[in-house]
Amino acid sequence: MDYPGNLFVVAAPSGAGKSSLVKSLLELDSHLVVSVSHTTRKPRGQEQDGREYHFINEKSFRQMVADGEFFEWAEVHGNLYGTSRGEVQKRIASGQDVVLEIDWQGAVQIKKLFPTAVLIFILPPSYEELAQRLNRRGEDQPEVIAQRLANARHEVAQARHFDFVIINALFETAVFDLKTVVHSQRLKYAAQLRSKPAVFQALDLS
Ligand code: 5GP
Repeated sequence: MDYPGNLFVVAAPSGAGKSSLVKSLLELDSHLVVSVSHTTRKPRGQEQDGREYHFINEKSFRQMVADGEFFEWAEVHGNLYGTSRGEVQKRIASGQDVVLEIDWQGAVQIKKLFPTAVLIFILPPSYEELAQRLNRRGEDQPEVIAQRLANARHEVAQARHFDFVIINALFETAVFDLKTVVHSQRLKYAAQLRSKPAVFQALDLS
Protein backbone atom coordinates (compact mmCIF):
# COMPACT_ATOMS: atom_id res chain seq x y z
CA MET A 1 0.00 0.00 0.00
CA ASP A 2 1.62 3.24 -1.09
CA TYR A 3 -0.96 5.55 0.40
CA PRO A 4 0.31 8.21 2.79
CA GLY A 5 -2.26 7.35 5.47
CA ASN A 6 -2.07 4.35 7.81
CA LEU A 7 -4.75 1.74 8.23
CA PHE A 8 -5.49 0.36 11.70
CA VAL A 9 -7.86 -2.55 12.19
CA VAL A 10 -9.30 -3.14 15.65
CA ALA A 11 -11.18 -6.37 16.36
CA ALA A 12 -12.49 -7.98 19.53
CA PRO A 13 -15.22 -10.27 20.77
CA SER A 14 -18.44 -8.42 21.49
CA GLY A 15 -18.27 -6.84 24.98
CA ALA A 16 -14.47 -6.53 25.18
CA GLY A 17 -14.79 -2.74 25.09
CA LYS A 18 -13.66 -2.14 21.53
CA SER A 19 -16.06 0.73 20.69
CA SER A 20 -15.32 2.64 23.90
CA LEU A 21 -11.57 2.24 23.38
CA VAL A 22 -11.73 3.42 19.77
CA LYS A 23 -13.94 6.35 20.80
CA SER A 24 -11.37 7.46 23.40
CA LEU A 25 -8.55 7.02 20.93
CA LEU A 26 -10.32 9.25 18.39
CA GLU A 27 -10.90 11.94 21.01
CA LEU A 28 -7.16 11.97 21.78
CA ASP A 29 -5.96 11.87 18.18
CA SER A 30 -7.32 14.32 15.62
CA HIS A 31 -5.42 12.63 12.76
CA LEU A 32 -7.50 9.47 13.07
CA VAL A 33 -10.91 8.84 11.56
CA VAL A 34 -13.11 5.80 11.90
CA SER A 35 -14.69 4.30 8.82
CA VAL A 36 -18.48 3.93 9.03
CA SER A 37 -19.46 0.43 7.90
CA HIS A 38 -22.63 -0.75 6.19
CA THR A 39 -24.77 -3.31 7.97
CA THR A 40 -28.06 -5.15 7.65
CA ARG A 41 -28.44 -5.13 11.46
CA LYS A 42 -31.24 -2.97 12.88
CA PRO A 43 -30.18 0.18 14.79
CA ARG A 44 -29.75 -0.27 18.56
CA GLY A 45 -30.58 2.31 21.25
CA GLN A 46 -29.34 5.77 20.26
CA GLU A 47 -27.61 4.66 17.06
CA GLN A 48 -28.07 6.92 14.05
CA ASP A 49 -27.89 6.09 10.37
CA GLY A 50 -24.61 7.38 8.94
CA ARG A 51 -22.99 7.79 12.37
CA GLU A 52 -22.48 4.32 13.89
CA TYR A 53 -23.37 2.52 10.65
CA HIS A 54 -25.06 2.95 7.30
CA PHE A 55 -28.10 0.78 7.98
CA ILE A 56 -29.28 -0.91 4.78
CA ASN A 57 -31.40 -3.93 3.85
CA GLU A 58 -30.00 -7.23 2.68
CA LYS A 59 -30.93 -6.63 -0.98
CA SER A 60 -28.98 -3.35 -1.09
CA PHE A 61 -26.09 -4.96 0.75
CA ARG A 62 -25.90 -7.85 -1.74
CA GLN A 63 -26.02 -5.33 -4.60
CA MET A 64 -23.06 -3.44 -3.11
CA VAL A 65 -21.17 -6.75 -2.83
CA ALA A 66 -21.94 -7.52 -6.49
CA ASP A 67 -20.79 -4.03 -7.50
CA GLY A 68 -17.47 -4.50 -5.69
CA GLU A 69 -18.13 -1.63 -3.33
CA PHE A 70 -16.63 -3.33 -0.26
CA PHE A 71 -12.98 -3.90 0.64
CA GLU A 72 -14.22 -6.70 2.83
CA TRP A 73 -17.51 -7.95 4.17
CA ALA A 74 -18.57 -10.70 6.54
CA GLU A 75 -21.53 -12.24 8.29
CA VAL A 76 -21.24 -11.65 12.02
CA HIS A 77 -23.80 -12.91 14.57
CA GLY A 78 -26.34 -13.41 11.75
CA ASN A 79 -26.03 -9.95 10.17
CA LEU A 80 -23.97 -8.65 7.25
CA TYR A 81 -21.30 -6.00 7.71
CA GLY A 82 -19.01 -4.39 5.14
CA THR A 83 -16.25 -1.79 4.81
CA SER A 84 -16.85 0.71 2.03
CA ARG A 85 -13.98 0.79 -0.45
CA GLY A 86 -14.59 4.40 -1.57
CA GLU A 87 -14.62 5.93 1.87
CA VAL A 88 -11.43 4.25 3.12
CA GLN A 89 -9.42 4.69 -0.06
CA LYS A 90 -10.23 8.41 -0.31
CA ARG A 91 -9.07 8.99 3.25
CA ILE A 92 -5.80 7.07 3.27
CA ALA A 93 -4.96 8.54 -0.15
CA SER A 94 -5.36 12.03 1.32
CA GLY A 95 -3.00 11.16 4.19
CA GLN A 96 -5.53 10.53 6.93
CA ASP A 97 -5.08 7.56 9.25
CA VAL A 98 -8.17 5.36 9.27
CA VAL A 99 -9.42 2.96 11.94
CA LEU A 100 -11.61 0.02 10.98
CA GLU A 101 -13.63 -1.40 13.84
CA ILE A 102 -14.51 -4.74 12.33
CA ASP A 103 -14.61 -8.45 13.14
CA TRP A 104 -11.63 -10.81 12.80
CA GLN A 105 -12.77 -12.21 9.42
CA GLY A 106 -12.76 -8.69 7.96
CA ALA A 107 -9.38 -7.97 9.56
CA VAL A 108 -7.81 -11.01 7.89
CA GLN A 109 -9.23 -9.93 4.50
CA ILE A 110 -7.87 -6.39 4.97
CA LYS A 111 -4.37 -7.68 5.80
CA LYS A 112 -4.33 -9.55 2.48
CA LEU A 113 -5.26 -6.39 0.57
CA PHE A 114 -3.08 -4.07 2.66
CA PRO A 115 -0.09 -5.93 4.11
CA THR A 116 0.99 -2.76 5.96
CA ALA A 117 -2.34 -2.50 7.81
CA VAL A 118 -1.84 -2.83 11.56
CA LEU A 119 -4.09 -5.47 13.14
CA ILE A 120 -4.95 -4.96 16.81
CA PHE A 121 -6.98 -7.42 18.85
CA ILE A 122 -8.68 -6.42 22.11
CA LEU A 123 -9.06 -9.21 24.67
CA PRO A 124 -11.20 -9.17 27.81
CA PRO A 125 -9.39 -10.23 31.01
CA SER A 126 -11.67 -13.32 31.31
CA TYR A 127 -14.86 -14.89 29.94
CA GLU A 128 -16.62 -14.10 33.23
CA GLU A 129 -15.82 -10.41 32.84
CA LEU A 130 -16.98 -10.52 29.21
CA ALA A 131 -20.35 -11.96 30.25
CA GLN A 132 -20.75 -9.31 32.94
CA ARG A 133 -19.97 -6.50 30.50
CA LEU A 134 -22.46 -7.78 27.93
CA ASN A 135 -25.20 -8.02 30.56
CA ARG A 136 -24.35 -4.61 32.04
CA ARG A 137 -24.52 -2.95 28.62
CA GLY A 138 -28.22 -3.83 28.57
CA GLU A 139 -28.53 -3.10 24.86
CA ASP A 140 -29.22 -6.59 23.61
CA GLN A 141 -31.89 -9.23 24.17
CA PRO A 142 -30.81 -12.21 26.36
CA GLU A 143 -30.76 -14.56 23.35
CA VAL A 144 -28.51 -12.13 21.44
CA ILE A 145 -26.14 -11.97 24.45
CA ALA A 146 -26.12 -15.77 24.67
CA GLN A 147 -25.23 -16.04 20.98
CA ARG A 148 -22.42 -13.50 21.33
CA LEU A 149 -20.98 -15.31 24.35
CA ALA A 150 -21.13 -18.61 22.53
CA ASN A 151 -19.17 -17.04 19.64
CA ALA A 152 -16.62 -15.43 21.98
CA ARG A 153 -14.34 -18.47 22.41
CA HIS A 154 -13.89 -18.90 18.69
CA GLU A 155 -13.32 -15.15 18.27
CA VAL A 156 -10.75 -15.00 21.09
CA ALA A 157 -8.82 -17.79 19.39
CA GLN A 158 -8.28 -15.51 16.36
CA ALA A 159 -6.06 -13.13 18.37
CA ARG A 160 -3.01 -15.10 17.18
CA HIS A 161 -3.47 -13.72 13.64
CA PHE A 162 -3.10 -10.13 14.84
CA ASP A 163 0.00 -7.92 15.10
CA PHE A 164 -0.86 -6.57 18.55
CA VAL A 165 -2.96 -7.75 21.47
CA ILE A 166 -4.35 -5.38 24.08
CA ILE A 167 -5.93 -6.77 27.25
CA ASN A 168 -8.72 -4.49 28.36
CA ALA A 169 -8.66 -5.09 32.12
CA LEU A 170 -8.23 -1.44 33.11
CA PHE A 171 -9.75 0.94 30.56
CA GLU A 172 -7.17 3.76 30.92
CA THR A 173 -4.28 1.33 30.49
CA ALA A 174 -5.88 -0.15 27.39
CA VAL A 175 -6.39 3.32 25.85
CA PHE A 176 -2.73 4.09 26.53
CA ASP A 177 -1.69 0.81 24.90
CA LEU A 178 -3.83 1.55 21.84
CA LYS A 179 -2.34 5.04 21.53
CA THR A 180 1.15 3.59 21.80
CA VAL A 181 0.54 1.12 18.97
CA VAL A 182 -0.84 3.88 16.71
CA HIS A 183 2.06 6.18 17.52
CA SER A 184 4.76 3.58 16.99
CA GLN A 185 3.29 2.57 13.63
CA ARG A 186 3.60 6.19 12.47
CA LEU A 187 7.31 6.15 13.34
CA LYS A 188 8.16 3.11 11.22
CA TYR A 189 10.55 3.88 8.36
CA ALA A 190 8.07 2.85 5.66
CA ALA A 191 5.24 4.83 7.26
CA GLN A 192 7.40 7.96 7.59
CA LEU A 193 8.49 7.59 3.96
CA ARG A 194 4.88 7.30 2.82
CA SER A 195 3.62 10.23 4.86
CA LYS A 196 6.57 12.63 4.45
CA PRO A 197 8.09 11.95 1.02
CA ALA A 198 9.41 15.53 0.70
CA VAL A 199 11.61 15.19 3.81
CA PHE A 200 13.05 11.91 2.58
CA GLN A 201 13.70 13.41 -0.84
CA ALA A 202 15.45 16.43 0.68
CA LEU A 203 17.66 14.03 2.67
CA ASP A 204 18.38 11.88 -0.40
CA LEU A 205 16.66 8.92 1.23
CA SER A 206 14.18 6.55 -0.32
P1 5GP B 1 -22.27 -4.78 16.38
O1 5GP B 1 -23.50 -5.37 15.82
O2 5GP B 1 -22.07 -5.11 17.83
O3 5GP B 1 -22.17 -3.29 16.11
O4 5GP B 1 -21.04 -5.42 15.61
C1 5GP B 1 -20.87 -6.80 15.56
C2 5GP B 1 -19.50 -7.13 15.00
O5 5GP B 1 -19.40 -6.75 13.62
C3 5GP B 1 -18.37 -6.38 15.72
O6 5GP B 1 -17.29 -7.27 15.92
C4 5GP B 1 -18.03 -5.31 14.72
O7 5GP B 1 -16.70 -4.85 14.88
C5 5GP B 1 -18.19 -6.06 13.43
N1 5GP B 1 -18.24 -5.16 12.27
C6 5GP B 1 -18.70 -3.89 12.22
N2 5GP B 1 -18.53 -3.36 11.00
C7 5GP B 1 -17.91 -4.32 10.26
C8 5GP B 1 -17.44 -4.37 8.90
O8 5GP B 1 -17.55 -3.43 8.12
N3 5GP B 1 -16.87 -5.54 8.49
C9 5GP B 1 -16.72 -6.62 9.32
N4 5GP B 1 -16.11 -7.69 8.84
N5 5GP B 1 -17.16 -6.59 10.60
C10 5GP B 1 -17.74 -5.47 11.06
